[in-house]
Amino acid sequence: MSRSGDSLRTKAAARSPRTVRTVRAVREAISEWRAAGESIAFVPTMGNLHAGHLSLARLVAEPRTRVVMSIFVNPTQFGPGEDFAAYPRTLTEDTALVTAAGTVDLLFAPEAADIYPFGLNSAARVSVPELGRELDGASRPGHFDGVASVVTRLLNIVTPDVLMLGQKDYQQFILMQRMIADLHLPVVLRMGPTHREPDGLAMSSRNRYLDADQRARAPALQAALARVRDAVRGGATNFADLGAAAKQDLESAGFKPDYVEVRRAADLAASNAADGREARVVIGAAWLGRARLIDNLLV
Ligand code: AMP
Repeated sequence: MSRSGDSLRTKAAARSPRTVRTVRAVREAISEWRAAGESIAFVPTMGNLHAGHLSLARLVAEPRTRVVMSIFVNPTQFGPGEDFAAYPRTLTEDTALVTAAGTVDLLFAPEAADIYPFGLNSAARVSVPELGRELDGASRPGHFDGVASVVTRLLNIVTPDVLMLGQKDYQQFILMQRMIADLHLPVVLRMGPTHREPDGLAMSSRNRYLDADQRARAPALQAALARVRDAVRGGATNFADLGAAAKQDLESAGFKPDYVEVRRAADLAASNAADGREARVVIGAAWLGRARLIDNLLV
């Protein structure tokens, strides 16, 4: 094994994350890495990291690829009355987790003033209409405009080759895919699988809002989606009925269901029941106490 091969292996195995706060510091690190011929992968998060977030970093931590993770609780994607103030901010614990994982080179933890230099009210907005207004967007008006607005900024700051997002937020993924194509953004989008607790609950920072009783009920969301998935796999095409039955199940389990739908996986358009070869996704959201849980399963 050559010396350069050795050093590449070492770099892929254990990385010590440096934490920076400013756009300028990110740009400096990126240009050094670019000058050395390395590529950049980017994992945006709102922090309060769990194994799902870490798995995304691990998937892109390839030799000669630097991994940048951002931790930023983005105010513009929270509606009035949502949990922006309560959202867990745990930078010390997050830094320890990322350090132990050894898969991140740069942790970017900016303040809102760095990301939105003209203030939130005067900030330029990026909006992806239609899909941004349905499913989660219908219940969270403005949410996806906030996501698009922050991801565009973060992509302009980090200039990654690869953007890594989780399947857990499937509508967000499809929206970002559309935005990247529509705005001709020079980045390749990748999806990492949803990490789950042993009982099937998708890992989420919002799971900490659940009390013990709610936590015990929470896997019912994934279970309800799985029943729909299995029925569709078995050939059922009465998607509206399946969704309605799943919402009923969720209500019986103590949830306040929002939506459960079967959609075309490629773009979340209405599913065409007559198309036997269409790839589909079962996607749902429901409140359990003050936690809004979302999940999805590919058929
Ligand atoms: P968040 O911090 O919740 O905004 O999520 C940051 C990124 O992590 C997004 O791309 C999410 O889709 C992804 N993510 C969140 N939860 C999970 C999970 N349980 N498994 C895999 N990826 C996840």
